[in-house]
Amino acid sequence: MADALILGGGLAGSAAACLIARDGKHVSLLERETGPHHKVCGEFLSIEAVGHLHQLGVDPLALGAVPIERIRVVQGHHDVEAALPFTALGLSRFTLDEALIAKAETYGAHVERGVRVLELSGRTARTTRGEREGRRVLLATGKLPVREQGVVLSGRAEDGFVGFKMHYRLTPAAARQLAGTIVLALFDGGYAGLQLVEDERANLCLILRRKTFSQLGGDWTAVRGWFESNPVLQRILADGDALFEKPVAVANLTYGLPSRDHAEGPALSLGDRWAMTPSLTGDGMAIALRSAFLAAQCVLSEADAASYHRRLAAQTRRQITRAMVLQNGLESSALRFAAYWLARLHPPLLTRAAHATRLPAWNEA
Ligand SMILES: Cc1cc2nc3c(=O)[nH]c(=O)nc-3n(C[C@H](O)[C@H](O)[C@H](O)COP(=O)(O)OP(=O)(O)OC[C@H]3O[C@@H](n4cnc5c(N)ncnc54)[C@H](O)[C@@H]3O)c2cc1C
Repeated sequence: MADALILGGGLAGSAAACLIARDGKHVSLLERETGPHHKVCGEFLSIEAVGHLHQLGVDPLALGAVPIERIRVVQGHHDVEAALPFTALGLSRFTLDEALIAKAETYGAHVERGVRVLELSGRTARTTRGEREGRRVLLATGKLPVREQGVVLSGRAEDGFVGFKMHYRLTPAAARQLAGTIVLALFDGGYAGLQLVEDERANLCLILRRKTFSQLGGDWTAVRGWFESNPVLQRILADGDALFEKPVAVANLTYGLPSRDHAEGPALSLGDRWAMTPSLTGDGMAIALRSAFLAAQCVLSEADAASYHRRLAAQTRRQITRAMVLQNGLESSALRFAAYWLARLHPPLLTRAAHATRLPAWNEA
């Protein structure tokens, strides 16, 4: 039996595997994908996420990450730009997740890929390759729920969000225009982020309400029409080549703090399985990594799951609450309009908003 059985080899699961295996414990990590793959994500690595990656021995710059120092908010034909309060990095999840799962293996974790967890019952996971057991179980399957004790906690919202991602090869002029900047375009019913990642690619990530998606016609062609109606995005993407045959997509995104029943039971919930913070603040990866650090401390000190969930809540509550206020506020066209013009009058407000929606500093004590 493994000391720690980790279900899901995304950022949270792989980071926890690194930390627990590094301490000499027997870790078994199960990941359903067979190899590197693209994930819907803005691919904006905040300073907190970069700090945690360095602690794990992963250097995003060595993987080709590009610096992002400015934010440009776009509303219709208008835009406003300000400095970020830190230097962020752009790196694809294809590259980052692979580097982290490989790191877990170098620390001695036993990684099984192409294994899907079907059900968790106590300390035993039923998988497509038979049963796996761990003294401690860490649930890190991201947005995808796993059946637990016969129940699926899907957290499905009435009108959740859908997300899309597409990589582009831009023209050299457009790439120069975008370099060093994250463009955040606000729409009725959603928003889009555009930035450079490694290998001279640009990542466009969109989030829209399911209702908006249905009203648009429910397919990618309609969604393209939606974001290309924005002149700033249109200008940057014009003559660029889409690099995937079709976008990567995810449905039923439900943001916010977890419901109380989530924190019950012996398994530790990590990353998005714990809670999803609104994507527009670009701190979800930092929360996933933070949860891994806290979960590893919990396992190594033989603390109980409830105390881990309490510590995770204490460290993430403020970030998620503020990000929710921002996301919900921007859904109202009147508030969006007012916020945009305030930022236009005083651009440092954008810097402050970015600063106010960060995780608190990590203190290992
Ligand atoms: C549209 C969008 C944009 C975002 N943009 C940003 C951003 O710019 N910056 C940022 O910091 N955060 C962003 N986020 C948030 C970030 O992507 C997530 O918070 C982060 O990926 C969470 O990591 P995780 O390890 O919890 O989950 P994941 O990265 O989803 O990993 C879960 C892993 O579990 C595996 N798995 C799932 N089910 C099973 C199963 N049954 N058996 C075995 N394995 C399984 C999956 O294959 C996957 O590898 C964004 C999120 C969305 C939706």
